[in-house]
Amino acid sequence: MKIQMVDLVGQYQKIQNDVNASIQEVINSATFINGPAVSSFEKNLADFINCVEVIGCANGTDALQIAMMTLGLKPGDEVIVPVHTYVATAEAIAVLGLEPVFVDVQTEFFTIDVSQIENKITAKTKAIVPVHLYGQCADMETIMKIANKYNLFVIEDTAQALGAEFSFSNGKRSMAGTIGHIGCTSFFPSKNLGCFGDGGALMVDDRELADRARMIASHGQKIKYHHDIVGCNSRLDSIQAAILNVKLPFLSKYNEARQIVAQRYDEAFKDISEVVIPQKAPYSTHVYHQYTIKVAGICRNKLKQKLQDKGIPSMIYYPVPLHFQKAYAKPGIGKGSFQVSEHLSEVVLSLPIHTEMTLEQQQYIVSEVKKAIKELL
Ligand SMILES: *Cc1c(COP(=O)(O)O)cnc(C)c1O
Repeated sequence: MKIQMVDLVGQYQKIQNDVNASIQEVINSATFINGPAVSSFEKNLADFINCVEVIGCANGTDALQIAMMTLGLKPGDEVIVPVHTYVATAEAIAVLGLEPVFVDVQTEFFTIDVSQIENKITAKTKAIVPVHLYGQCADMETIMKIANKYNLFVIEDTAQALGAEFSFSNGKRSMAGTIGHIGCTSFFPSKNLGCFGDGGALMVDDRELADRARMIASHGQKIKYHHDIVGCNSRLDSIQAAILNVKLPFLSKYNEARQIVAQRYDEAFKDISEVVIPQKAPYSTHVYHQYTIKVAGICRNKLKQKLQDKGIPSMIYYPVPLHFQKAYAKPGIGKGSFQVSEHLSEVVLSLPIHTEMTLEQQQYIVSEVKKAIKELL
C-alpha cells in the first residue's frame, strides 16, 4: 500500500478538467502578471475569510516580510514570535533588521504561550507574530488584549491554518488571519489551500493598511514608475491564482476531510499511552494541516524508523527549535531557555494526513503504529 504525507496527484485528478481549463485560459489571454485571475482570486478569498482585502504575493515568507514593512517596523524593533515554528516566521523579521524575541509554546496546543508574552515586552517591542501552528489558532483573544495594552501590532502567521475559525468569549467568530492587523498565508503546494508552485497572500481588514501593503508588494508604487516608498517585487502568479480560484471552493471540504482523518486517529490512539493525541483548544477549530502526536515513553526516532521500514512516512515539525539554529542563536539563550519547545523537538511526530486518505490506508498506518510501539516497549 502506498502511503504519502500528502497526495497532491490524487487531489488534482478529481478537479483536473477545471484546473487545466483555468490554466489554459491564462495562457490564451497571456495575462501572466496581475491579470483577472489574480484580482478575482483576491476578491474570492477576501469573501471567504470575510476581510476587506486580500493582496496576493509570491509566497508566505514574503507575505510576512511585506506585513512588517507595511506596519513601518524599523531596524532594532523587537518582534515577539514563538520559538517552535517554521523558520520563515523569524526569518521575515530578521531579514529586515528587526529583532525576533522568542517565546515558548504551550505543550497542549503547540501555539505561543500567552502567559509568557508580557515578560518579553520591552520599550523596543513593536509587534507579536502568533503562528496558528499545525492548523489551530493561537489564543488570539488574549494576544489582542496584550497588544492593545502595550500598543503593539499583531501579524498572524496563518500559513498552516487557512479556514480555521477562532471563537471569542463573547461568541463572536473570526477566521484565522483576520483578527490581528495583518494576516499572512502561504499557498505552497502542501498547505491546506495549495497551488502548483509558490504563492502567498496578505489578509487585511483596514483599507489604508491594505493600500500600503499593495504598494509595498509592487515596488512601492501606486502609479506605475512613481515610487513613494521602498517596496519589493512580490506577486502571486496569474496561473497560480487561476488554479487557486478552482480550488478555493473546495477548501472547506478539504479541511473537513482532514478533520475526519484526525478524528479517526484520535479514536484509534486514545487509549495508547505512548501516543499523546493533539489537544484541541476550546477557542479554535482545527484544520489539521498536520496531525502531530507526542511520543511518550518510547524513542520517537525509533518509531519513525519502524514506520519508514513499513513504507509509512512521518515528519518532525520541527527538529531544532529556533534558538538552537545558528542563524538565530543569541548569547545567554541556551539549553533550558525554552523547555517546552526543546522537549517538543524530541517527541513530536506528524503522521500522514491529507484530503485523499482512504480508510484502508489509515487502518494500515494505525495498525503499524500499534505494532511498532509493542516492539519498542
Ligand atoms: C509554509 C510556512 C511559511 C512560509 O510559506 P512559504 O510560502 O513557503 O514562504 C511560513 N510560516 C509557516 C508556519 C509555514 O508553515
